[in-house]
Amino acid sequence: MGFYSIAIDGPSGAGKSTMARAVAAKLGCVYLDTGAIYRTVAYHMILMGISPKDRDGVNRLIDDVNIDIRFPGDGVQHMILNGFDVTDELRTPEMSRGASQVSAHPAVREVLLDLQRDMAKKNNVVMDGRDIGTVVLPDADVKIFLTADVKVRAKRRLAELQARGEKTTFAEVLADLEERDERDSTRAVAPLRCAPDAVRVDTSDCGIDESVRRILAVVEEKLAL
Ligand code: C5P
Repeated sequence: MGFYSIAIDGPSGAGKSTMARAVAAKLGCVYLDTGAIYRTVAYHMILMGISPKDRDGVNRLIDDVNIDIRFPGDGVQHMILNGFDVTDELRTPEMSRGASQVSAHPAVREVLLDLQRDMAKKNNVVMDGRDIGTVVLPDADVKIFLTADVKVRAKRRLAELQARGEKTTFAEVLADLEERDERDSTRAVAPLRCAPDAVRVDTSDCGIDESVRRILAVVEEKLAL
């Protein structure tokens, strides 16, 4: 029997990772956060003194990036970059912006395709990202496009960053989300789009529990559980 795959795409801060984690916990399958892979590439470029925006520089270094993804059982997806665990370095505003910038380069997306598809070949997976249902896994069994009003997303993201001790403001977070949304949806390769066969779920007016319930209902129906 083959493995099933569930794609959750949508703009930054829509709650994709929270939903994907809840679905994976309920089904007992692997959750792959694909944004972390782009963040790892951004981290490598910044470490090497290359701006994530610099297409030639990024293209020159992309073959030196060896990424290994590990799930040691602590509930955390560990990102190993050239042998070093860089997981704790990735969830900063600088890496969010850098990931969005490196992810617009076609060569970067190309290199990361196999890594993502391989996970779905070998496991039952929930993957969240921007292009999972459209490009990475066009044959996914379930596709969800998760959205919420940008101000609601900014409020949620601000609370998350503040809980982690990051010093930032609502205006900064909102500007950052709007900038990323714009870049992610207008890039030439694999732009953020709702796949024609995806179920659109808007969580502007509902909390986490209600959103999880709605998404699980879609998943259970599609997988005929
Ligand atoms: O989801 P997260 O905020 O961690 O993603 C960081 C950036 O990585 C996004 O803004 C987007 O530009 C890029 N990304 C992507 N395709 C994916 C996942 C993330 O282009 N599948």
